Amino acid sequence: MPSLGQYHDFLRDMDESCARLEGTVVERCPSECSDCCGPQTVHPVEAYAILKGSGPLRLWRKGGDHPAERCTFLSAARTCRIYPVRPFLCRARGVPVFARSIGGGWVRDCCQKKRFLAGPGQGSAAGALGLRLEQWKARLNSVNEAFCESNAIPNRPIRLSDLFRAPWVYFALFEYVKPSSQESGLSMA
Ligand code: SF4
Ligand code: SF4
Repeated sequence: MPSLGQYHDFLRDMDESCARLEGTVVERCPSECSDCCGPQTVHPVEAYAILKGSGPLRLWRKGGDHPAERCTFLSAARTCRIYPVRPFLCRARGVPVFARSIGGGWVRDCCQKKRFLAGPGQGSAAGALGLRLEQWKARLNSVNEAFCESNAIPNRPIRLSDLFRAPWVYFALFEYVKPSSQESGLSMA
């Protein structure tokens, strides 16, 4: 029964790929920057991982209200309250990614705040120096589908703001997810 094992493998590979790019191909994000932390939706497997990995619910309430129009998990001090378990898109924002151009080719894009340190810069098709985002999304989709199917969870996007404001709804949704032999179950405590 797939639980979080495949998802953790996915995140580990993703983090390794990002680590090869940040600080070598593009400069690192300034530690005080959170400008890309806006509202977003996540897959059920990501929501489950956030609930499991973020500890007792009361910790979410620390750090004051989030800034208006921003991700609910951003604290008043503009730090991520769930950084170790943040979802896929949050991890991909700081690195160059390849996207399809109007003409069908690939162009490399990156946050406009970041400076390229190596190789051709933005708008180029610079070999392997960037994430093939579509491939990573396809892998995540496949991990999520297996998670939803095997645990009879509806495969629908979940707003991070809903997860933050009403986590008990999602504890109920994930109540019957069977953890793998290496994991403990979901706990509200
Ligand atoms: S989950 Fe964390 S890293 Fe992702 S958008 Fe929200 S505050 Fe930013
Ligand atoms: S990706 Fe850009 S906006 Fe987001 S934290 Fe890094 S520098 Fe800031």
